[in-house]
Amino acid sequence: MGSPVCGFLKQNNIIFLRFFAILVLSCIPDRTNLCSNPSFDTPTIPPHSSSSSIPSSLKTLTLDGYFSFENLKHAAKDFGNICHYLPIAVLHPKSVSDISSTIKHILYMSSVTKLTVAARGRGHSLQGQAQAYQGVVINMESLDRPSMYIENGEVPYVDVSGGELWINILHETLKYGLSPKSWTDYLHLTVGGTLSNAGISGQAFRHGPQINNVYQLEVVTGRGEVVTCSDKENADLFYGVLGGLGQFGIITRARISLGPAEKMVKWIRVLYSEFSTFSNDQEHLISSNNSFDYIEGFVMINRTGLLNNWRSSFNPKDPIQASQFSSDGKILYCLEMVKYFNPEKIDVLNQDIEKLLSELNYIPSTLFLSEVSYVEFLDRVHLSEIKLRSKGLWEVPHPWLNLLIPKSRIFDFAEGVFGNIVKDNNNGPILIYPVNKAKWNNRTSMVTPEEDIIYLVAFLSSALPGTDGLEHIMTQNQHILDFCAKAQLGAKQYLPHYHTQDEWRAHFGTQWETFVQRKSAYDPLAILAPGQRIFQKAISIT
Ligand code: FAD
Repeated sequence: MGSPVCGFLKQNNIIFLRFFAILVLSCIPDRTNLCSNPSFDTPTIPPHSSSSSIPSSLKTLTLDGYFSFENLKHAAKDFGNICHYLPIAVLHPKSVSDISSTIKHILYMSSVTKLTVAARGRGHSLQGQAQAYQGVVINMESLDRPSMYIENGEVPYVDVSGGELWINILHETLKYGLSPKSWTDYLHLTVGGTLSNAGISGQAFRHGPQINNVYQLEVVTGRGEVVTCSDKENADLFYGVLGGLGQFGIITRARISLGPAEKMVKWIRVLYSEFSTFSNDQEHLISSNNSFDYIEGFVMINRTGLLNNWRSSFNPKDPIQASQFSSDGKILYCLEMVKYFNPEKIDVLNQDIEKLLSELNYIPSTLFLSEVSYVEFLDRVHLSEIKLRSKGLWEVPHPWLNLLIPKSRIFDFAEGVFGNIVKDNNNGPILIYPVNKAKWNNRTSMVTPEEDIIYLVAFLSSALPGTDGLEHIMTQNQHILDFCAKAQLGAKQYLPHYHTQDEWRAHFGTQWETFVQRKSAYDPLAILAPGQRIFQKAISIT
């Protein structure tokens, strides 16, 4: 299929300019906190006209799947559990043409309605990004594709549905001794959901984020067209969709790069009391050849009995020294490293690890090690999920804040935030690790700070029931953002969330115009992913 953007831009310059004006003018303009009211029917965007006729109009579509119009509260909920926008219908597509027909129908009706469409993966968004107030939510997990296709040749890959979970891809590819190379920390997320953001974890320093490990996509654009795109074919759409926050099309299929999988991992943690020593070691490791396969880190502020908590899954290298270590009251930094291996090569592995560790400057008594299977390691957060669910603590509000900080300012960030703005991390883990951007493709829609090494800092807070936790954490998050702005750190939000056009424009910086142009090319009426609150649906011009 030909590229819709080139023809559109060349032949319809006047129409382009008109749509461009509509999109810019219709970016959500006010500063109200759209998620402040947690009721299920918050009217955040003016409802469309003739809402009562919409369900019957959707019912006229001939589909392989079906719409549901009742009991839709699950589609107004996400992992963040802060924003709740009730849709008018949920589409359970069985085929790509169900999605295309629905979008075309909504376009056809666009002179009379403001109906929008949100693809929903697992709904692990934080601020309503996969919701559509009085719009249509597409339950991507119901998309029936032929089973995963694995190409086991010289350049191995897997073809998967956009609604597929990464955990299923792991299990399927392992049957061929293969595995995706770049992951997220939690695997019960969908391909379409993480590719709309980036997909960053401890392997990204070597392989780039998940969006840099995709060969090809099939996308249904906001015009209802089904387009295959890659670096060679419809490249503008391909790179636009990757990290594109769902703005340009719905990913119905992705071709993901694979590599050989190992069976086991050696999982290591060490502690530091000085931030600069910790970050120097992290930066040393991500720049070394033959380094670890996964490198992350986290901060612990005012925690007690830290090493004791590790003992259930890790073993101290020196139990006597470890028992004498006291963490109480200090800010400590944990470097977490993993090396993949096959058991028959354990001797070589141990030598490699010994060499790598000898180059580091951690507190010697805090070296802890563990050996688990590759699957257990990659699926590690699911164990916590099971425990938290059993205590009713998974479905609490999650006011997470994820930031990307340039290496040159990470020390200023640490000094200003840890122990000053954030005085403990009792609400949840704080991850911090560098990635090497030389491995990242900068043609995607994802926005990062302008340096070769950037840090991901993730405040993964949970607001416990019956406390003022949510308000407290959100205020603290705002203080962190204010600090970054005032100190001009050049930070960018990851999994971004803003209220105004100016904030989005600042977020995208020099990429903003390209983003707006792509929007007008692929989703000119701004139907898609309204929950990101970047553009507001326009009424069609005929
Ligand atoms: P959803 O929340 O359903 O959707 C996210 C956005 O993508 C929405 O705007 C939606 O409309 C759009 N979308 C969904 N499917 C499609 C599609 N097929 N085509 C086009 N647009 C689509 N992220 C990381 O990068 N690294 C991590 O280590 C990491 N760990 C996490 C751990 C946990 C416990 C959780 C809850 C999240 C984590 N995330 C991480 C964040 C995760 O990447 C986002 O939540 C992401 O939104 C994926 O979730 P999802 O598949 O449920 O997508």
